[in-house]
Amino acid sequence: MTRPVPAIVILGNGSLATARKIQQMYPGALIHGLAERVDGADRVYREFGATLRQLYQHDTPIIALCAAGIVIRTLAPLLLEKGAEPPVLAVAEDGSAVVPLLGGLGGVNVLAREIADGLGVAAAITTSGELRFGTCLLNPPSGYALGDLELGKRFVSDLLAGESVRIEGAAPWLAQAQLPQDPQAHLTIHVGSAEREPAVNELLIYPQNVLVAVSADVADLPNAIRDVLHQAKIAVQSVACLLASDQQMASPALREAALELGVPLRFATAGSVAELAENAAGQSVSIHANNGIALAVADRPLDPLLIGRPRGRLAVIGLGPGAAELMVPAVKAELARANDVLGYETYVRMAGPFRADQVLHCTDNREEMQRARHAFELAAQGRSVVVVSSGDPGVFAMAAAVLEALHESSDSSWHSVDLEILPGVSASLATAAQAGAPLGHDFCVMSLSDNLKPWTIIEKRLDLAAEADLALAFYNPISRSRPWQLGRALEIVAQHRTPETPVVLGRDIGRPGQTLRVTTLGQLTPEQVDMRTMVLIGSSTTCVFPRAEGGEWVYTPRWYPAKPVS
Ligand code: SAH
Repeated sequence: MTRPVPAIVILGNGSLATARKIQQMYPGALIHGLAERVDGADRVYREFGATLRQLYQHDTPIIALCAAGIVIRTLAPLLLEKGAEPPVLAVAEDGSAVVPLLGGLGGVNVLAREIADGLGVAAAITTSGELRFGTCLLNPPSGYALGDLELGKRFVSDLLAGESVRIEGAAPWLAQAQLPQDPQAHLTIHVGSAEREPAVNELLIYPQNVLVAVSADVADLPNAIRDVLHQAKIAVQSVACLLASDQQMASPALREAALELGVPLRFATAGSVAELAENAAGQSVSIHANNGIALAVADRPLDPLLIGRPRGRLAVIGLGPGAAELMVPAVKAELARANDVLGYETYVRMAGPFRADQVLHCTDNREEMQRARHAFELAAQGRSVVVVSSGDPGVFAMAAAVLEALHESSDSSWHSVDLEILPGVSASLATAAQAGAPLGHDFCVMSLSDNLKPWTIIEKRLDLAAEADLALAFYNPISRSRPWQLGRALEIVAQHRTPETPVVLGRDIGRPGQTLRVTTLGQLTPEQVDMRTMVLIGSSTTCVFPRAEGGEWVYTPRWYPAKPVS
C-alpha cells in the first residue's frame, strides 16, 4: 500500500546537497526552503514554525534538516492534542545523523533506517522493543491491525523484561522478527480474524482479510455490518474494505458507513452482494450472506487497492491570485492527492510543482467545455482529478463550465463522481485588500468580455450598476481582440460618477512584478489597463487618504448617507 510522500524542510543552502540525496529516495518528495536563504527549493516558505506545524497537522511525514531541538520546540504545542501522528525526523545538515523524533506508530523508524541507509550512516533508533526484536510489534505492516494499543504497550514491556512469547496463527512478518519464541511461553501473540476477547497475556493481531460487500439500501448500515460480522464471529478489525456496486457510487449512506468503520470503500460492476464478494476476494475460503450484506473471508490479507475501483473525484479549485500564501489549505491538500491536473497551462504551472506520477493536461484558455468533459471522463475511471482556475473557480472560471458539462450529460458514471468546488481568493478581493477596502460597501462584479454575452447586456448592466452607486470590479477589462470596450464602459460609468471617483488598478496581484495604482475616473485611460489588470471603480462615498509609508489607502465606508441616490 502507498505511504504518504514526506516533505523535506531546510533552512539554508548548506543542507541542499543532503536534501537532494534524500529526495532521490522518495520520488515526489518536495524540498521546502526558507525564502531568501535557499536557492532552488521546490516550495518556498517564509515561516519555519507555521510551515512545520501545517505539515504536521496534515499528517505529512516531515524530514527536517536542522537541529532536533528546533523541531521539538516548534511542534511541542501540538503534541498533546494529536493522537495519531506522522513520522517526524531530524537529519543533520551534512547527513551524518538521522534522528527519529515522533511517529513511532506511523513508521518513523522504518523511514529513519531507509534514510540512514541511503546516507551511509546508522539511524539513531531509540525504541527499545524495536531495537531488541527488529520490528515494532505495535506498528504491524499494512494488512494487519493491532487489537489494543495499551495492551500492546504492556505486552512489549513484558517482553523487554525478559518474558518469551508464543505465536499462534500466520503472520510472515512476525516470523522474521527476532522475538524470543518459546512454545511453552505464557505470553501469546494470536493472529486471526475471529471475534474474541483476548485471553490473559494475549496480544491479538487481526489480518485484514475480510471483504464486506454491501447494498446501500440496508438501514443503519454500520450496525447492520457489525451484526453480520458478529453472527459470523468475525472481528470488525479484520475488515479490509467495503465493496458495493457501481450504481451505488454516489450513496451518502455507503460513504458514511465506510468512514464510520474506518475502512476504504471500493466499487465493482453490478451483481448480487454475494457475487461481488466472491469475485473480488477470489481466493476466498468462506462466504456469509445476509440481507444485502455478504462477507468473504480470504486466507491472507486483502489489498483494497486491488479490489474493484474507488469512486472517482473531481475538484474544481481556485489557486487564488498567485502567491502560495493566499492559496487555501484545502486546495493544497487537493493538489497533493490529484492523479490528473487539467487547466490553462499558465495556471497549471502556477499550481506546481508536481510529482512524476501526476499527469498534467494543459490546454488553451478557450477550450473550457472540452476540458470540463475530459475531467469527467478521467474522474469516471476512478481517478482523482483537479481542474485549476486562478482566483476563485466560481468567478468567470471553470466551476460553471464543469457544472454545465455535468448538467448536459446523461452519463451516470459522470453523475456518480465525487464533485467538489474549492474556493480561492478572487482577483477583485486580492486587489481590494492591497488597496485598503474599496469594496467595503455594496459592489458589483462584472466581466467586460463580450465573448460569451452580447455587448448590449454589458452596457445595460454597467449603466444600471453605475446609477445604483455600486462600487464596480471589472474582470477581463480589455484584450487585443476587444480593444474598444473598456473605453465605452468608462464613458457609461462617467455619466453617473464624478471625475474624482477613486479608481484602483491591480496588475498581476500576488504574482512576481505585481503593481498597484490608485488614480481617478477622470484620469483613467484604457492604455493603463491590460488583460492582467483588475479595475476597481469607487462609488460616490469611496475615499482616499495618504499612508505613512507612501501611497494611499482607499476605502468605501460601511455606512451610507441618508439622502437618496439622485
Ligand atoms: N477566476 C478568476 C478570474 C478569471 S477572469 C478570479 O477569481 O480571480 C480573468 C481576469 O481576472 C483577468 O482579465 C484580470 O482582470 C483578473 N485577474 C486575474 N488574476 C489577476 C491578478 N493576479 N491580478 C489582477 N487581476 C487579475
